[in-house]
Amino acid sequence: MTERKMATIRKIAEIKAIPEADLICAYRVDGWWVVDTVGKYKVDDLVVYAEPDSWIPHELAPFLSKGHEPRTFNSIAGEKLKTVRLRGQLSQGLLMPLEPTCANIESMLFEGLDVSFPLNIQKWEAVIPAELAGQAAGNFPKFIKKTDQERCQNLYREIFIDNADARYEVTMKLDGTSMTTFYVDKEEGVCSRNWELKLDGPNEGNTMVRLYVDSGLQAALRQIRRNLAIQGELMGPGIQGNREGLKLPTLFVFDIYDIDGSGQLSPSDRKNVMDELYNAGVKPDRLKHVPILHENVSLNDLGILSISDLLEDAEGPSLVHPIREGKVYKRIDGQFSFKAISNRFLLKAKD
Ligand code: AMP
Ligand code: MN
Repeated sequence: MTERKMATIRKIAEIKAIPEADLICAYRVDGWWVVDTVGKYKVDDLVVYAEPDSWIPHELAPFLSKGHEPRTFNSIAGEKLKTVRLRGQLSQGLLMPLEPTCANIESMLFEGLDVSFPLNIQKWEAVIPAELAGQAAGNFPKFIKKTDQERCQNLYREIFIDNADARYEVTMKLDGTSMTTFYVDKEEGVCSRNWELKLDGPNEGNTMVRLYVDSGLQAALRQIRRNLAIQGELMGPGIQGNREGLKLPTLFVFDIYDIDGSGQLSPSDRKNVMDELYNAGVKPDRLKHVPILHENVSLNDLGILSISDLLEDAEGPSLVHPIREGKVYKRIDGQFSFKAISNRFLLKAKD
């Protein structure tokens, strides 16, 4: 899976006035609306667009610090792009003119070009608490796909044209931390989003390693001896504010990956493996499946015809919280997926 492109060259698609505001208006690029000064861009202008969650170096947009000292992330002074509402209009991300932003980029500037690297724009990620981060044994293994999902706002053509008739499994997006465990040719491992963790030594107390052992997953994978990666969202005390109010760390599985070749298992094969794991002694209160909202539907069945319909539909409660993070749509063959994040969640989320 490629890394998310945080900043790309895009085209202004539409401009909308904001009622009772003379100085600001909303500009649309693909499925995103961004509020900025009136008259700054015209329809069809090429611009740099940085998505929400981008870490923007201070030099590129000093006004983001609002006169305060910039903050730092990965040793870079700057600010994180959040979702905000200005005069009632949602604003997500940042637009910057090609000149002078790209003055030092030597390549041709064309629509779709990823400029994150030359502009030093990174994806901001929450700092993982020490008891979760643990000690790394190495990089995330190459033979397993990372768990990223692309946001629907970037995928209009893929969702509504290329996949107009596709059928999806729709699951609830849970806001914890990504965890992967694998068993391959008698080797086993536990990984956080980007690293494989040591299983022994100081990591014996690590939340992910403990979950792997205490849930019975380690014993079950050794027993069934299939080359599999189990991927899910670890939720519980000390993780992202424990929005689901869990008593113990719990892994909510969303993907099972067949390392020997067939790739991601279909939803029904995934269910069969979950049953096999429970039969092999996995504790059902420590390893669950993410909530399935629809097993097999098309967007048409759901009355979803646009990106804004998807975003509207993403709103609603989670397991126990009145505001869920959103929904994940996975094509039944597992080969295409995307996320629709609740704007209420984004507006409320504090960091
Ligand atoms: P983000 O949290 O915005 O980085 O979105 C991608 C992440 O969502 C994945 O890496 C998973 O860790 C997480 N996630 C939470 N719930 C689900 C779900 N139901 N299906 C797939 N991924 C999920
Ligand atoms: Mn997340």
